Amino acid sequence: MQDPIIIIGAGLAGWTTVRELRKLEPSTPVLLITADNGDFYAKPSLSNALQQKRTPAQLVTTPAAKMAETHSVRVLAHTRVLAIDPATRTLQTSGGDFQYSQLVLATGAQPIRVPLAGDAADQVQSINSLDDFTSFYQRLTCADQADGQLERRPRQVLIMGAGLIGCEFANDLAASGYGVAVVDPAAGPIAALLPQAASAQLQQALADLGVRWHFGVTVKALNWAPAQAAEAGADANAAPALQVELSNGALVFVDIVLSAIGLKADLSLAQAAALVCERGVVVDATLQSSSPGIYALGDSAQYAGGRTLPYVMPIMSAARALAATLAGTPTAVVFPLMPVAIKTPALPIVVAAPKPGTAGEWRSEEPGLWQFIDEEQHMRGFVLSGKQSARRAEQGKLVQV
Ligand code: FAD
Repeated sequence: MQDPIIIIGAGLAGWTTVRELRKLEPSTPVLLITADNGDFYAKPSLSNALQQKRTPAQLVTTPAAKMAETHSVRVLAHTRVLAIDPATRTLQTSGGDFQYSQLVLATGAQPIRVPLAGDAADQVQSINSLDDFTSFYQRLTCADQADGQLERRPRQVLIMGAGLIGCEFANDLAASGYGVAVVDPAAGPIAALLPQAASAQLQQALADLGVRWHFGVTVKALNWAPAQAAEAGADANAAPALQVELSNGALVFVDIVLSAIGLKADLSLAQAAALVCERGVVVDATLQSSSPGIYALGDSAQYAGGRTLPYVMPIMSAARALAATLAGTPTAVVFPLMPVAIKTPALPIVVAAPKPGTAGEWRSEEPGLWQFIDEEQHMRGFVLSGKQSARRAEQGKLVQV
């Protein structure tokens, strides 16, 4: 019997590859192996679910069994791949060994964890999956559920990291009535991607919602709050349980600490199989790794040109090209301009960032519109904020990629 194409991972990269492959190859055997339950959900919905009043269960678009049936694939859920042997095209998993004809690594990336001092350091949460969001949601809402009525004081969340994901959660939580503090060593939100003036606009818009910013500092320690100190900072009915010490010595009392400081691909599986890895599994234009027949895409991949692209749109382009390659026509992926819409309804922002390392400067053309102009006076990116964010198609046509 023909060995299946095996896809590891049931995130957007894994499932989109399945969907694109089935358009070209309706009957080639495909086995999808995943450590989670395999349900299909859109990960971006995790950072705006509260305002949309969607529970974690409501975020599942299609259960794994239905995905398997629709796309005629076998799904092995709750199964972790432990080792890859490229020589014999064999996978060792927690559910036994499997032979593959071609292999796709769609294993994503994992939250970066910084070591913190303190007796509650292990209480830091990150959200990079529906399971993570479910446990965060339970902690956020547990007091309401416990006594069947809304809690008397809003629960307080401290977010580590004022990047794109940190700001989206800050907006979602603050607009849903929770107290939010954000801590970041930079001077403003999304400072790595946005021109300073756009960052300042976002800072003000989220402050207007009640977000308390702590810039130029980091979280140093996390401890269980001494009872009397916590009560001084909140209603005594349910004092915040955690005491966060910042690098400037300030203390912040909260119920939950959410880390949003970035992701890093876990490359141990690929490295043990001797695949070339840098910040991700290094792939060529056809998404093939250094080992023939093994491909990678999504958050686990480092694309040709040394770029990691941890966003949804690159996955769509990559999955289409990879499906053609898996179906027998080696196809190079071509990434179009891929603007990212930042989900901060307090100030909607669209960013089309220039390629990393492009020399040039942001120029403000009119309120809410910035263009990145390189040294040859070519436009290489743009940022739109507020009402201007509707102009992404028009600005996109002006960018020279
Ligand atoms: P993942 O979704 O991480 O999937 C990895 C899969 O691999 C999982 O199923 C996991 O169980 C499995 N796996 C890993 N290791 C193993 C193993 N050894 N064995 C078996 N299975 C394994 N991007 C945008 O463009 N726009 C947005 O608005 C946006 N919002 C976001 C909001 C949040 C909160 C987050 C966290 C990300 C957001 N992103 C956004 C980024 C985007 O969602 C990701 O780039 C994308 O979902 C990554 O998909 P993936 O399939 O590569 O990885």
